[in-house]
Amino acid sequence: MILHHPDDELLLAHAAGSLLNGHSLLVATHVEGCAHCRERMRLFEAAGGSLLEALSPEVLQAEALARTLAAIDAPSPALSPSAPRTPAEAGVLPAAPEGMSWPRAMRGCVATRWRWLGPGMHWSRVTLPWDKAANVFLLRIGAGKMLPQHTHSESELTQVLYGQFHDGRALFGPGDFDETDGSIRHQPTVEAAGECICLASVQGKVLFDGAVARVLGAMVGM
Ligand SMILES: [Zn+2]
Repeated sequence: MILHHPDDELLLAHAAGSLLNGHSLLVATHVEGCAHCRERMRLFEAAGGSLLEALSPEVLQAEALARTLAAIDAPSPALSPSAPRTPAEAGVLPAAPEGMSWPRAMRGCVATRWRWLGPGMHWSRVTLPWDKAANVFLLRIGAGKMLPQHTHSESELTQVLYGQFHDGRALFGPGDFDETDGSIRHQPTVEAAGECICLASVQGKVLFDGAVARVLGAMVGM
């Protein structure tokens, strides 16, 4: 049961193709598993199309209108049916726990093996071949472990792929989505029942409170 969704502003920006590629991947990953947000996206895309069609030629050159409509009709790169299919082309994702499968939106992404981040904590750098500069990573945090307390210079999107964590504001489970920024200082703690795997996209920097965490964060480029 999904309790936390991207807000309409994010869904609209995703529909309009104006999100950063990393953030767009996060929203696509959520929408893929959430019937509620798929329906919102369908409404936004329909509304966007009729708005564009209603604009007069003086406002928008015909060619620009055609290009924009074509862009709206085109599937996003992450969800494209012509996305690479063979294992080599499809990218490489690290080992997942039994019963967990990687979202289709991550098809084509290349991720490193799980790397040590701290006791019971691992991470993997995710590279988007269509945007090498995107700051996207996976976190795999053991049962009962907590991330160092931190805030964010700009925005961070998180999608729970497996397990559950609590950060003092709410409990986030599989399929849940979270958006945080500089107004939120939190310390995500994984539930005792089992490990948690999240996909995250960071715009700006993660700002850790502790000196050791700051060094670790800088080392992994968060
Ligand atoms: Zn949703």
